[in-house]
Amino acid sequence: MADDLYGPGQQEIDKLYLRLERDAKQGGYNLNPDVEFVKGLAKGLLVNEMRYGYRACPCRLASDDKIQDKDIICPCNYRDADVAEFGACYCALYVSGAVLKGDKELGSIPERRPPAEERQKPGKASGPELSAAGFMKL
Ligand code: SF4
Repeated sequence: MADDLYGPGQQEIDKLYLRLERDAKQGGYNLNPDVEFVKGLAKGLLVNEMRYGYRACPCRLASDDKIQDKDIICPCNYRDADVAEFGACYCALYVSGAVLKGDKELGSIPERRPPAEERQKPGKASGPELSAAGFMKL
């Protein structure tokens, strides 16, 4: 794959892929087994980091405001609930064990993130809170 002149290089993408893989294993998560697909998402995360200064979800439109987007900095606040309910996060970067084993087929994953107006309501948390390890606090 030729490097995009202004985007992240293949080395950076490969490095992030390895990091995502290691972190997923350590946290008890599964990356999507399609390596090229995952590398495409890793590239999207790096592009967003260059563009906004943080790794906003590559499948969502970021606002360029880290505070507004804190719920969609990868891994987003919605990952655990989506993996549990639909077998994958919104981007399908992370998949459930059943999807990994081929026991469950992936369909489209609906957007769980509340609309901006709802997220901006005073006192309204932007999605479920995650622990430092990235697990959803129940
Ligand atoms: S949907 Fe998946 S790829 Fe997107 S931020 Fe959430 S965990 Fe990351």
